[in-house]
Amino acid sequence: MLKLPASLQRLINEFAKLPGVGPKSAQRLAFYLLKKDNVEILSLADSVRDVRTDITFCTECHNMAETDPCSVCSDKTRNHQLVCVVEEPLDAIALDKTGSYNGLFHILGGVLNPMEGITAEQLNIQSLVDRLAKLKATELIIATNPSLEGETTAMHIAKLLKDSPIKISRIARGLPMGGDLEYADEVTLQRALEGRREF
Ligand code: ZN
Repeated sequence: MLKLPASLQRLINEFAKLPGVGPKSAQRLAFYLLKKDNVEILSLADSVRDVRTDITFCTECHNMAETDPCSVCSDKTRNHQLVCVVEEPLDAIALDKTGSYNGLFHILGGVLNPMEGITAEQLNIQSLVDRLAKLKATELIIATNPSLEGETTAMHIAKLLKDSPIKISRIARGLPMGGDLEYADEVTLQRALEGRREF
């Protein structure tokens, strides 16, 4: 019986494990790579390996980083009394790109979602509370996505901090309900930051 070479089959199997890649796409990707020259293939292989060896997570903000603490947390020109909490690293990148935010970030690593069994303990919430105290932060901007889970998480955080003197605000204006920060354009994000309202 005619079979695919074992190494090709192994590559197809690996691709098929990726999110959003079905068996057909996995085959297409593998055959596509097969036609590429050595340099291109090795460069891809290197990138895949380096992403695990070069990238770590900042123990302060939980963002992905090449150093610990990351370049943002160790940047003395930033306002270390202002913290913006977001769901995922890409949200922080999107907000930082607006150029109108000069504080620190804190990555939650998701949102509260009882249906999927995601509780506060699985998110970087306690470390946020501890960090705000350590930084003697004066303001926290809650920039979770404008979804049901994002709102629930924002409310949970605000409640935890209700007895602290820290000013808590929530970005809102201009962001559509159910939208995703990561995909919002820079002007909308900038307005959302500027139009933050106090909790
Ligand atoms: Zn950091």
